[in-house]
Amino acid sequence: MTSTAAREHWDVVVVGAGPAGASAALGALAEQPGLRVLLLDRSDFPRDKSCGDGIGPHVLDALAEVGAGDVVDDWTPLRHLSLSHGDVEVSGPMRREVHVVPRTVFDARLVERAVAAGAVLRRHRASSVDPAPAGPVVSGDLAGHVVVGADGAHSLVRTALLGTRREPRAIAIRGYAPTAPDLRGRQVIRYGDRRQPSYAWAFDRGDGLANVGYGELLPGERAGGAAPSRRLLLEQLEHLVPGAARRGGDWRGHHLPLSSWRWDQPDGAVLLAGDAAGLVNPMTGEGIYYAVATGLAAGRTAARCVASGTPSEAGARHRRAVRTLLAQHLRHTWVASRLAQSPRVVDAGIRAAGRDRHVFDTLVEIGLGDGRIDARLAGGLLRALARPHRPTPTPTPLPRDPR
Ligand SMILES: Cc1cc2nc3c(=O)[nH]c(=O)nc-3n(C[C@H](O)[C@H](O)[C@H](O)COP(=O)(O)OP(=O)(O)OC[C@H]3O[C@@H](n4cnc5c(N)ncnc54)[C@H](O)[C@@H]3O)c2cc1C
Repeated sequence: MTSTAAREHWDVVVVGAGPAGASAALGALAEQPGLRVLLLDRSDFPRDKSCGDGIGPHVLDALAEVGAGDVVDDWTPLRHLSLSHGDVEVSGPMRREVHVVPRTVFDARLVERAVAAGAVLRRHRASSVDPAPAGPVVSGDLAGHVVVGADGAHSLVRTALLGTRREPRAIAIRGYAPTAPDLRGRQVIRYGDRRQPSYAWAFDRGDGLANVGYGELLPGERAGGAAPSRRLLLEQLEHLVPGAARRGGDWRGHHLPLSSWRWDQPDGAVLLAGDAAGLVNPMTGEGIYYAVATGLAAGRTAARCVASGTPSEAGARHRRAVRTLLAQHLRHTWVASRLAQSPRVVDAGIRAAGRDRHVFDTLVEIGLGDGRIDARLAGGLLRALARPHRPTPTPTPLPRDPR
């Protein structure tokens, strides 16, 4: 153990420089320019991350608060979304556009912005985190008034704070394939028939390649059962999006720690953000918005607590800030994901979205941002459940947007 005097001292130490960590650094430095922020990552940037690369509009709204809303401006946006399960399909324009940008590009750009704002980036694999009341210490010799754990789905910081408590998890694999003509300009999601949520996707990047992949819920620790093999994941992808697995490459898989009914953050000077905080949408697997939003919140809270000399209050304040931002939404996505475990409900949701544009928009909002289940969505779902499905040869086009 390094003696206190021999340690490096920082205002804020951020472990992990993905979207959550880079956003934490940006949030802290926007709040207190001149703050001494150390941003650690075990990898050099640019680095790849297994992901569908879908960046919703809420991500850019949040980044705009720290002057980084333009990071993907040079990538072609997408508007068209198609959702299907077997022959039940809805297809149409989303209210706001999304971007599909490889994480090698997106994450490296966010890190560049954090460094330009004043963060010090260092390649370092954190080996331990001691959340000592006298001040947290990373790897035995990096002391921060506040430490932010943004080290992803297998977070060391989370384990140091909360032990090995496990949330439900999904597993997914992604690759890149030439964009087939019928998938051009689209985000396509096709639900499968395995443990829900299970779906394949093809997201056109706009540069001739599409991000393609498949994911499903992992068996719970209590239920037992084997995790799906890589081969099975690729077979499911090929079954749901013919040609994607055959023509794709650069495969990379990863776990997704899904959020549940209630989100928690312990008291003290160690904060959690993004996947390290167990924040991935349980209905869609989207986590970049939560990573950016909770990263920014953690950074801001850290900076305020350092400035007021109250770092030990940071945990309680971060908990309040994140709950204010996301608690209601997280409860609604949890309910939506439980309902979506039934294929009948998935079909009913798609049919309800085909009949009512508001339902379509609300489902997109719940899946990508901070939306909630409202009376019209619930009513549409109940009506669709009550009516038997009559197969149609063509997808339901969306009703016209009245706005
Ligand atoms: C196949 C797949 C598809 C997905 N598709 C989408 C999608 O289309 N849209 C979406 O919004 N979300 C998607 N997600 C979820 C999304 O990828 C994550 O929610 C997001 O990456 C979380 O960001 P983060 O910064 O919290 O973690 P990460 O992006 O995982 O970053 C964590 C960082 O911490 C570093 N690190 C880890 N351990 C240490 C350590 N000990 N010391 C130092 N550094 C460390 C890592 O190198 C990494 O850079 C998908 C996930 C998967 C697996």
